[in-house]
Amino acid sequence: MPMLKETIEKNRQKYLDTWFEALRIPSVSAEAEHKPDMRRMAEWLADLLDGELGFAVHVIETQTNPLVFGQSPEIPGAPTVMIYGHYDVQPVDPIDQWRTPPFEPTVAEGKVFCRGADDDKGQSLTHVFAVKSLLETYGSLPLNVKFIFEGEEEVGSGALSAFLESEENRNLLAADVILVSDTDKPGADEPGITYGLRGVVGYELTLTGPNRDLHSGLYGGSVQNPVIALCSMLSEVIDSDGKIRIPGFYDDVVPLSERERAELARRPFDEAEALAAVGLDASFGEPEYTVIERRGARPSFDINGITGGYQGEGGKTIIPAKASAKFTFRLVPNQQPEPLTRALEAFFRDRLPAGIKMDLVFQHGAGGMVIPLESPFLQAAARGLSSVYGKAPLFIRDGGSIPIITQMKESLGADLILAGAGLEEDRIHSPNEYFTLRDFFLGIESAAAILTELARVKTGE
Ligand SMILES: [Zn+2]
Repeated sequence: MPMLKETIEKNRQKYLDTWFEALRIPSVSAEAEHKPDMRRMAEWLADLLDGELGFAVHVIETQTNPLVFGQSPEIPGAPTVMIYGHYDVQPVDPIDQWRTPPFEPTVAEGKVFCRGADDDKGQSLTHVFAVKSLLETYGSLPLNVKFIFEGEEEVGSGALSAFLESEENRNLLAADVILVSDTDKPGADEPGITYGLRGVVGYELTLTGPNRDLHSGLYGGSVQNPVIALCSMLSEVIDSDGKIRIPGFYDDVVPLSERERAELARRPFDEAEALAAVGLDASFGEPEYTVIERRGARPSFDINGITGGYQGEGGKTIIPAKASAKFTFRLVPNQQPEPLTRALEAFFRDRLPAGIKMDLVFQHGAGGMVIPLESPFLQAAARGLSSVYGKAPLFIRDGGSIPIITQMKESLGADLILAGAGLEEDRIHSPNEYFTLRDFFLGIESAAAILTELARVKTGE
């Protein structure tokens, strides 16, 4: 698309200036003192979508930070894409580790250093400027475009999650496909599409024995020890090959297809190097799956913390009154938290020794998601990226969880494309966050190419 590239080139300074304006607004969602900045940022975005793109824009009030919604003039029969981004950023602490002021964009070594440079103001704006460049080059858009920006992705997405509960709101956001740039690409010249995310569910299990810590000489060998009971119950959850032993746990797992396994195997991955980077010399898990598959496409169980008894200086000869553990499962489609909670409660009840009481508390949970590789939208996005990078993107199943993204996909019944423009080394959430100028402009070009290809998908209307 040479004409489009020219438009992007021509607007280079303007796009930079606009991006920098956004970066100068310290929209830190976690800190109450920045409350006015959240509103300022939302209004700034609304003005941009209205002024630059001519979209119909609403700043939607919520219990917390506003949502910003914008919509292009309707083209009947054309597919509709909903582009998601977030305008809030992480706090800047530790401030003394920043080499430049965190809210003053500073260009050095081809990078723009600033909080939010990548996550997610830089990445979100690549889409706005892609739309702007398409409009300026061709006079109109080839498909229907909606934008939704939230101001609390970094603190749990409460407002957007609640917004999606209403049918009227879901109709407003309705789309054939959701497009998101809030993840990484595999390499500077290596495009990628994340087509799967794991879900997560977290619990705390507390076991209570005697009504106080007991003398282990007077009572040892005659009453249950809650710490031992906890260790024994938890050790039964998983075997030495990483298989989870809760009955029915794998019933809803959608197996990996041969095609997916082939796609995942394309990703360059040096297991020894990856392990060495975290100080390990051996991996763990289901032997019939590769490490990449175990991380992104298989469920897992981890104990996050365990507490009980005396851990102070020296020793203390007691039978503790209480022991507890926090643990999580990463889930894959179509596993859901609710049936697991029921199965887990029964599993522990069956193993609970006499003399011990248990309390299992569900803390949080969300299912995972996966888009079939055959999805026409996924394939269209891949063609778009190929046209910019000169090579096909890698298809990635990410081991992490983005509950709001999964909820959006589920509640809108739309396909989802996660095409990150940034790199893992961009230090998002850390001091000296940056986005390279090259990735920023490649991101604009990629987003425009993806939108152009998405517009060609027949939606059957
Ligand atoms: Zn983000």
